[in-house]
Amino acid sequence: MLARTSAEFRCLLCASEDMPAAVQVAIKGDASGQLRAVQCLSCSHVQLSPPSYDLGLYREDGQVNFVVDHYGTPIETLFDHSAIEARRRAARFAAHGETLRRADGRPARLLDIGGGYGFFGSAMTASRPDVETSVLEPSELRVETGRRHLGERADPDFPVPAYEVGLLDDAYVARHRASCDAVTLWHVLEHVEDPLGLMRRAGELVRPDGGSLWIEVPNADDELLDLSPAYRQRSYMREHISYFSAAVLERMARRLFPDAVVEVAGYQRYGIFNYFHWIHFNAPQGAKPDLFERDRWWLETSWRTTREAARTSDALLLIVRFGDRA
Ligand SMILES: [Zn+2]
Repeated sequence: MLARTSAEFRCLLCASEDMPAAVQVAIKGDASGQLRAVQCLSCSHVQLSPPSYDLGLYREDGQVNFVVDHYGTPIETLFDHSAIEARRRAARFAAHGETLRRADGRPARLLDIGGGYGFFGSAMTASRPDVETSVLEPSELRVETGRRHLGERADPDFPVPAYEVGLLDDAYVARHRASCDAVTLWHVLEHVEDPLGLMRRAGELVRPDGGSLWIEVPNADDELLDLSPAYRQRSYMREHISYFSAAVLERMARRLFPDAVVEVAGYQRYGIFNYFHWIHFNAPQGAKPDLFERDRWWLETSWRTTREAARTSDALLLIVRFGDRA
């Protein structure tokens, strides 16, 4: 039974101001105690109320500092995990039948928005030298940290990518409209106050004749939220303004891009041992959570593929394909 909340509310997606339903009262990192996660009863979107986007947090790399301070995760472990995730993300195109090759033979252009330290941009630069990859990131500090780390790493699989410090605003769209063959946002959309505006602008950067948009977010219907109260506590945080379900994400894309082909796939980021740990001990796995590079045996394969097919995995991947794909 969901309790109603009395705080002032305005839905980020449909602008309804009708009383929403309470989803989660305690929000991690909320010093004010005022933030709530609520569900709009008009369009079913789940979001923080009031929404509290703080760009300063990203400029200072606040979310990463929190993980380092709170879980004792060494920054090197975060870099290692970023490298594993970057390789998996680079492999995602082939897994979904995207060749990143242009019919006219010219190199495809890929822009990674909110690319952070640049691990994904780096992995793409190494694995697909035929694609012109660049990273757009609002935090200069993150770019400098990434540039220094990847430079010192001196790993041919992780070269220093091309960075640009900036935000995807309308001025950026005006300069780069329809110039990209692929645009990616990996765990960015849940952080912003205007997710529809960001999705629209990202789509406007994509070539309408054959380009694609790739947006991965945490899954509001992650089954672990109901299996581990501690995991649920950890999953609602000040930095995540929106909590997308597959249905809401799909509807956003279909309304913004009525002529495109839209797909939302489940995707499992963390490994089976992390999952069992949250359920069995109702606690985080610790400084080195299980982030699998690939399935290790049959149980992991069936566990992962079943959750992804049911879209109860820990992440969702929205793919929007533009142009005639028939
Ligand atoms: Zn709404």
